[in-house]
Amino acid sequence: MSRDVMKYVRPNILAMTPYSTARDEYKGKAGIFLDANENPYENGVNRYPDPMQAALKEQLSAIKGVAVENIFVGNGSDEAIDLCYRIFCEPRISNAVAIAPSYGMYRVAAATNDVELREVQLNEDYSLPVERLLAATDGESRLMFLCSPNNPTGNIFPREEVLELSERFDGILVVDEAYIDFADQPSLLNDLAAHPNLIVLQTLSKAWGMAGLRLGLAFASAEVMELFARVKYPYNINVTGMAAATDILAKGVDEQVAEIVAQRQRVMAELSEAECVKRVFPSEANFVLARVSDARRLYNALIDEGVIVRDRSSVKGCDECLRITIGTPEENDKMLEIVKRFK
Ligand code: PMP
Repeated sequence: MSRDVMKYVRPNILAMTPYSTARDEYKGKAGIFLDANENPYENGVNRYPDPMQAALKEQLSAIKGVAVENIFVGNGSDEAIDLCYRIFCEPRISNAVAIAPSYGMYRVAAATNDVELREVQLNEDYSLPVERLLAATDGESRLMFLCSPNNPTGNIFPREEVLELSERFDGILVVDEAYIDFADQPSLLNDLAAHPNLIVLQTLSKAWGMAGLRLGLAFASAEVMELFARVKYPYNINVTGMAAATDILAKGVDEQVAEIVAQRQRVMAELSEAECVKRVFPSEANFVLARVSDARRLYNALIDEGVIVRDRSSVKGCDECLRITIGTPEENDKMLEIVKRFK
């Protein structure tokens, strides 16, 4: 569908003049830099980083098959989630819609931006309630958040259903693909060109093993990415983080991801056989959600032996459920051994 997504943008954002950094203004050769009030003595970090992360984006562009102009790099995808609200939602006027249960930051970022979040419960089997999501929207709905594969349920939503929402929702559809590298189904990155109201979020925190660096990604049309660049803090990614990411991206993580996926299959199979496990939900992520006989007591039993999982039993739709991240084979052995002997 062709549509003008600029109509969803807050007027103050459209009108603003972004901060221009010293290095934005000077795009020439190396020289003597007396333009940014830095300390001139080299120590590896005395200079400001590239505000647009050109080198890192070139590398990501090659890996993801997406043009540099369609990439945003943020301080974790949490920064991108916050920017979606800041760019598109008028505090106290606009609203956003999200699936539930899902990742908690859609709600936290809505609250910090004083935007109403309408949470729509997934169907009982965690499938996507397409009609109920659309019914929750009105003329002030600017954002819809889907997380696929979803945290904490682990399932991925069919591409046709997600794209149907993009077609039918009169606003910006944000699809958080933080766990897509562990899934069988491909990413929606190839659908961006045909869906101008789509923003895809990914992260280097999960499959890529860089949670400590805080590097999140957003992909969208060049005009939407320009809005992100306008609103973000000028130097949102630091020199050390970019250098570390460059090395890990160059080495690749295919083998680790394959091992994690293999371990996930094994953990799911073995959990299903444990006496205290009632149900293991299908997962396309690097964690599994399991319904057990007494989630709180099993959670504490695991902690007593030094294994920490996530107790999701107080989340609506996740009664008596623990979310268990896939670890190394040895870590999984230990966790499974405790679960199997739990009475
Ligand atoms: N999206 C989802 C669905 C997540 O589960 C998480 C982290 N738990 C994030 C985003 C945040 O990722 P980042 O580390 O890039 O901020």
